Amino acid sequence: MLAYSFLLSSELQATEVFQQRPAQRCDRAALCSELADRYSVTTTAIRHIWDRRTWVWTNLPHWTAAELAASLAEGTCDECKLRKVDKVEDTCEACPINRKRGRPRGARDTYRRQRKNP
Ligand SMILES: [Zn+2]
Repeated sequence: MLAYSFLLSSELQATEVFQQRPAQRCDRAALCSELADRYSVTTTAIRHIWDRRTWVWTNLPHWTAAELAASLAEGTCDECKLRKVDKVEDTCEACPINRKRGRPRGARDTYRRQRKNP
């Protein structure tokens, strides 16, 4: 029932988890379960941090340029895309990325799971 256990005790932990994200995609599974154990959260919670779906505003300063570009590409509305917004701070309230501020509440309505290939 509790699909979304997200019990990290502080923003610091969220940042720690984010900074330990693997450089290689193939390393993800093992490291993910290891961190999930260490912080007593679900592997989903860890993956969401790595994928910049949760704790967005906490971890924003730690994003690489490539990660920022990827998040802006998928997290901005059409209007902001037209305006070529290149900072998260400049996105408007209608942008999907701004629904991710703060802690997740467990709502699944904004939860999209789209894997990029390959
Ligand atoms: Zn916008």
